[in-house]
Amino acid sequence: MGILEVNNVNKSFGGLKALQNVNLDIEEGKIHAIIGPNGAGKSTLLNCFVGKLVPDTGTVMFNGQSLLGIKPHEINQVGVSRVFQTPEIFSELSVFENVMIPCFAKRDGAFTLNALNRVHSEQDIRERAEEMLVDVNLIDKRDMIASSMSRGDKRRLEMAMCLSQQPKLLLLDEPTAGMARADTESTIELLKTIQERLKITMAIIEHDMGVVFSLAQKISVLAQGTVIVEDLPENIKGHPKVKEAYLGE
Ligand code: ADP
Ligand code: MG
Repeated sequence: MGILEVNNVNKSFGGLKALQNVNLDIEEGKIHAIIGPNGAGKSTLLNCFVGKLVPDTGTVMFNGQSLLGIKPHEINQVGVSRVFQTPEIFSELSVFENVMIPCFAKRDGAFTLNALNRVHSEQDIRERAEEMLVDVNLIDKRDMIASSMSRGDKRRLEMAMCLSQQPKLLLLDEPTAGMARADTESTIELLKTIQERLKITMAIIEHDMGVVFSLAQKISVLAQGTVIVEDLPENIKGHPKVKEAYLGE
């Protein structure tokens, strides 16, 4: 059984069928890539996981719980975090303060959900924030103002902010889009480290095949709103259906 199970999801925008009978099974602890040509429906699918869009029909189950009709912040509370294409950080604050904010949000938001979280003191939260900065290799820059960091470091910071909410599933929509090669390489290394150390399940949408094949343990290929192939990376390369889908790109 997968940590995220998508069954027969359909989503139309007017007359356009953006998703048609999409099935997806993301296994716990794995990095699962969702690839496909422009307009295939990748972002639409991801938006259905985080409550930004509601499918017309079908089910999206996370750990056995339906995510449909649940508000984005509640989906976040149950353990699904999304990394945005442009880092969403507090530019005027220090690196450390940036990581503290989601730690507090997690504690305070969880108040009503789980009384046990009340035992989290500020000291615990500081320690957790520090651990996150070690994990993303930013601990030496903890007092820097966020706006003065490089693009790659901002990405690391955003990742630490996501991780400090202790997600079970991390969703990444083109995490290396627009990055220079060096930043792309360091993002790949960062994601590998996170997965190895924290065992977080990841679903990654990515256009850069180099990134996909460096990270993914399973790949689903979307084309015109349907999953045309789901397989191990070694079986995706050179797959005739995949080649055909990308023709004319
Ligand atoms: P991808 O992320 O794979 O490039 P998208 O999920 O963004 O593809 O888009 C899939 C299709 O749905 C495209 O044809 C796109 O134009 C259309 N689409 C996406 N979002 C909307 C929307 N909010 N309204 C109308 N059409 C949309
Ligand atoms: Mg997209």
